[in-house]
Amino acid sequence: MKKVEKTAVAAFLVNACAFVIKYGLTLYSGSIALRAEAFHSLTDVVASVTVFGGLKLANRKTRRFPYGLYKVENLVSALVGIMIIFAGYEIAREVFLGAGQTVKNSGWNIGGMCVVIAGLGIFSAYERTVGKETGSPGLTADSRHFLTDVMTNSVVLIALLSNYFGLRLDRPAAVLIVLFIIWSGGKVTLDAIKVLLDMSLDKETLAQIKESILNEALVLKVQSLIGRSSGRYKFVEANIVLNTNDLNRAHEVSERIEKEIREKTANIDEVFIHYEPVAKTSYRYALPVEDPEGERISAHFGEAPYFRFTIVEKGKEDSISRQEVVRNPVPVTEQGKGILTAEWLSRCGTDAVLMRNRLGGKGPLYVFSHVGIKVINTEETTAARALEVLGLHGANANSSLD
Ligand SMILES: [Zn+2]
Repeated sequence: MKKVEKTAVAAFLVNACAFVIKYGLTLYSGSIALRAEAFHSLTDVVASVTVFGGLKLANRKTRRFPYGLYKVENLVSALVGIMIIFAGYEIAREVFLGAGQTVKNSGWNIGGMCVVIAGLGIFSAYERTVGKETGSPGLTADSRHFLTDVMTNSVVLIALLSNYFGLRLDRPAAVLIVLFIIWSGGKVTLDAIKVLLDMSLDKETLAQIKESILNEALVLKVQSLIGRSSGRYKFVEANIVLNTNDLNRAHEVSERIEKEIREKTANIDEVFIHYEPVAKTSYRYALPVEDPEGERISAHFGEAPYFRFTIVEKGKEDSISRQEVVRNPVPVTEQGKGILTAEWLSRCGTDAVLMRNRLGGKGPLYVFSHVGIKVINTEETTAARALEVLGLHGANANSSLD
């Protein structure tokens, strides 16, 4: 059994003990607040059984249920929630319509409740630790529930203690607990229904996933990104535009993105990435240059203040259709500017880079091979000559500064 499952079983046992102790004390003391609390523990026992059942069932996928049976957990949660509300209603009837007896003062009541409260408090802390360790949202939520249980049980304890001083707080305490039971039942039901209706993942999770996608230098645009929960698992669908026509490369990129998303976001079941290549009708060369006119080729790729882009149309490979000089947006002082510049070039839709220096660091070269940008070495010092050597003509046509 995994640690998460062991802890879920322990939660069941703690709730069962709390129920037995409180139910025994109810019979002994005649307190309706205690009776309401005992009922509350009983609903907790049922809930912890469903949490455990959900953990077991959720991991099954069959031919008839290829998306997994994850939602069984939410369906059962919704039913349990409705059951809890109904139990709350039954207790409320008793609180308001019942005759109500005098509560017996006894050290047993006080002692028993102290044991229950201490047990719940300690278990809550333990469960929170395991929840953090294993990244299980179910356990973390359950540990918070145990903390609220400490509060409701304390209300009963206060009512029992005040009874010694002739204060009849039993009925008001019972009302408080009934309200809590109905509120928590309503929350359980609503949360389950949201998942059953495929409510979107929360904004933070989606933003985190988008960041994982945009980390990949070949991604030009995230066209759409949606996600939903099923049980405790998340399903993600993304539509992205890639700066490549190469299907193998696109496939590699989408696998890398999927891996990154799984590493950064907990409980991902499936990631569907639909990629489309950017429609390429032209080929784009980039030259690192020293001047805004784009004439002198820079000796240092990463430190080039400007880049000259030379664009040729598909099918007319020897004639330049357009040129532009663009300022390198990566600040000179930036750490790892070679890599950042290479990534920026990829996002600009660059197909090939001309370079005078053999790159000192391997970083930019790694980026270029990663995204499929061709590196062309040149011995020339001026852009016009370098382009001529490549067999490109019309080098000075429509030069413009962006
Ligand atoms: Zn509870």
